[in-house]
Amino acid sequence: MVELDNQANSSNLPNSANPGIGAAPINSSIDASAQLNVGQAEASKIPGTTSSALNCPTGASVLDPKLLEACIHCGLCLPACPTYLATGRETESPRGRIYILKMWQEGQAMEPRMAEHLDSCLGCMGCQTACPSGVQYEKLLTQARPHLQGFKDKRARKLMAFAFDKILPDYPRLQLLGKMLRMYQQSRLSRLLPALPIPKKWKRRLQEWESFLPEVPKFKPLPTQSWQSGEKTGEVQVFAGCVMDIFYNHVNHAAIRLLTKQRKIAKVPEQTCCGALAAHAGEIEIAKKLAKQNIELFERTQGDIVVTSAGCGAMLKEYGEMLEHDPHWSKRAHEFSSRIKDITESLSKGQFSSAPNPINKSVTYHAACHLSHVQKVKDAPVELLRIIPGLKLIPLEEAEHCCGSAGIYNLLNTEMSLKVLDRKMNYIKETKAEAIVSTNPGCLLQLKAGVDNEKMNTRVYHLVELLDEAFGGEK
Ligand code: SF4
Ligand code: SF4
Repeated sequence: MVELDNQANSSNLPNSANPGIGAAPINSSIDASAQLNVGQAEASKIPGTTSSALNCPTGASVLDPKLLEACIHCGLCLPACPTYLATGRETESPRGRIYILKMWQEGQAMEPRMAEHLDSCLGCMGCQTACPSGVQYEKLLTQARPHLQGFKDKRARKLMAFAFDKILPDYPRLQLLGKMLRMYQQSRLSRLLPALPIPKKWKRRLQEWESFLPEVPKFKPLPTQSWQSGEKTGEVQVFAGCVMDIFYNHVNHAAIRLLTKQRKIAKVPEQTCCGALAAHAGEIEIAKKLAKQNIELFERTQGDIVVTSAGCGAMLKEYGEMLEHDPHWSKRAHEFSSRIKDITESLSKGQFSSAPNPINKSVTYHAACHLSHVQKVKDAPVELLRIIPGLKLIPLEEAEHCCGSAGIYNLLNTEMSLKVLDRKMNYIKETKAEAIVSTNPGCLLQLKAGVDNEKMNTRVYHLVELLDEAFGGEK
């Protein structure tokens, strides 16, 4: 069995003496193995969990030992890990989580506290970028996640699986929900929340969730195809996303305008949810089902598939790997994934038919984890911001660190999410920028919540919105 000797390891860490803004001081006497030494009795503390739900398979049957062996325990990933920086705890670090996985792989039964530490991982992959030893942390997480589901609240799990399978892929139903949410926001019914006869704990939770929601804009269906007169340089397919198109429908319209201003024919074909939220929650079969539907639907189309949400783009680029071992789908999935381009990748390679107008504003750029760490798209967003005359781009400290959104992590692990957001907002405040720019709906929702909580007068933009403004916007 691997011993988690936190004292010895954390003393070697380059950042161990200074986790930085908002981080808890590292308690070098933490014995991580003691933190994890909890028995089955702990299971009864997890609502909806039964002992049979804890019958999770052995780590040896789930994890590839070679992936674990790649970790040399150097700790260089720790300064890149937002949950470690927020808590200063080894068990909330990539190295600590790899230890936990190794314990499991070597025969220790998975216990609730171990599962909790794995579950509190944001999946941001900052550690993977920082690791000098090439540890494929994402693969480890993907192998482990589906087997940790038994540790979660049974009812919540069922509800989430229903949402991933029946609501997110059903666009008319989703649009109806968006409409209802908009009506609720406009009616200010939320003011009645404090008077509702529900437990205080639930009221607090509902208020926290509400703080993550922006005002839902009026939904305007996207055109099935769009172009400008004159010469065309090709055809692209726009992947509009499910949640993205509800909360940021105007961004999808802006993206289509920009693509046509690069003389492209922009089409919006039939499509479904990318499955990212399902995959991140360990509901891998739902994610595979959605992947197969998207592959079939887009096989009827040609050209790049351009994505406005960094989280969806990362998932779509991973279909090839997800269906690698399925002989019927593997080749088709790889072909599909090779067509995926983030909107910033696509626009940075094209030529606009006119020059941008100046925007005299100072902005700072938060790099979405799923764009920078997973898709490895780092330069394109900055290159696009630089073409806007008058725009002052102020560098953001830890720009590539997760903001704590991570899909629906902020709804499920609100406390940790807010700690992570705190650190991000402190650095944003230091820039004194008038606006924050990012490229992922989850980040935009989270940063907007941060701005509101801090009562800052800072606008949060999707990069495409700002670029569209520079190129004339909607006429
Ligand atoms: S994951 Fe990589 S960076 Fe982190 S401890 Fe292991 S080898 Fe070092
Ligand atoms: S994925 Fe992100 S939160 Fe999880 S261990 Fe790596 S850096 Fe930390």
